[in-house]
Amino acid sequence: MFETLQSQPADKILALMQMYRDDPRDTKIDLGVGVYKDATGLTPVMRAVKAAEQQIWQSQDSKVYTGLIGDPAFSDAMIELVLAGAVPRDTVAAAATPGGTGAVRQAFELIQMARPDARVFVSDPTWPNHLSILKYLGMEVVNYRYFDDESRGVDFDGMIADLSKAHAGDVILLHGCCHNPTGANLNASEWDAVIKVLQETGATPMIDIAYQGFGDGLAEDAAATRKIAAAVPECLIAASCSKNFGIYRERTGLLMAIAADPAARKLNQDTLAFLNRQNYSFPPDHGARIVTTILNDAALREDWMQELEDVRGTMLNLRTQLAGELQRLSGSDRFGFLAQHRGMFSRLGTTPEKVEELRAKHGVYMVSDSRMNIAGLNQQTIPILARAIIDVGI
Ligand code: PMP
Repeated sequence: MFETLQSQPADKILALMQMYRDDPRDTKIDLGVGVYKDATGLTPVMRAVKAAEQQIWQSQDSKVYTGLIGDPAFSDAMIELVLAGAVPRDTVAAAATPGGTGAVRQAFELIQMARPDARVFVSDPTWPNHLSILKYLGMEVVNYRYFDDESRGVDFDGMIADLSKAHAGDVILLHGCCHNPTGANLNASEWDAVIKVLQETGATPMIDIAYQGFGDGLAEDAAATRKIAAAVPECLIAASCSKNFGIYRERTGLLMAIAADPAARKLNQDTLAFLNRQNYSFPPDHGARIVTTILNDAALREDWMQELEDVRGTMLNLRTQLAGELQRLSGSDRFGFLAQHRGMFSRLGTTPEKVEELRAKHGVYMVSDSRMNIAGLNQQTIPILARAIIDVGI
């Protein structure tokens, strides 16, 4: 029967990783896959994660199933981390999910159950998985303008004009911080304008927050999410713990559904449990337990926040150094956007041909849309990359 299957397009980033591995040049630079790497190119286990795992190993006396929505203590800890009391706790339904991707998938399914004809407004560009899951579920996608090819910042006027076409029953998908793949983000007054559009159109926001703590700080990166959640009656939030806790493979995420009032919360909560049951029954627990242990222990939390700050600072330094080196070599400020962008990624804003030239001639590997993982750089590779960018005429 399976001969009827059609082969699916290969994941571009995974294909790129393989090409990188096969490249013999010792000056090659991997700016592809979106994981944090330290100066030695490793993705370390964070100190607090190790300590929490040790505690769990010592104290855990059963691995019996948790609840369908995971351990409620994980929801509590994450709701506090993301929302910090921005909305009444008794309006928030939540379910643990396999990673942020699981939260995004369950959110889309929840929308589809509630409104089969909902349109989902997504930024152009957005994380490709948003599009592929929406397509797989057969949901209608509407692109809104987001990236300005000239300034490499946000095309704010275009964004607002496009979002204004949404109406009640539609969903507007927003990246809470550290936009993937561009690195370009809204400032506080621009977020306020988005909130105004949400209120005027009645569209429901869905916020994907996968990099809290990677941009301007833990509270700063959640500020827009908190403000939106407080300003509209209903809101979905898909949070990932993969990056900020460095527990990628543990598959740890949370979907939050904020209701207009506590009575409506119950229906959301029951539906989230139902959706988990249909897709995988119980969500993974190990990563969730690590996160809960860290967030509920003052010393571990402090240490985690410190290490996360170091990670954030490292990426910011790399950004300013690369922008500085490019300014020196080009004699112009046209790469200043690299220091303005936030999070792990920056879209260089060049053609797939130039990206290919960077790879072939200089062993620089980035996604064909010119997304670079800034964390893939270090002191040695920054000058190499800067020279390569100038050499190919970007
Ligand atoms: N949303 C966005 C925008 C992301 O970039 C990612 C990670 N690549 C995720 C969600 C989810 O990641 P994960 O499933 O690994 O937690």
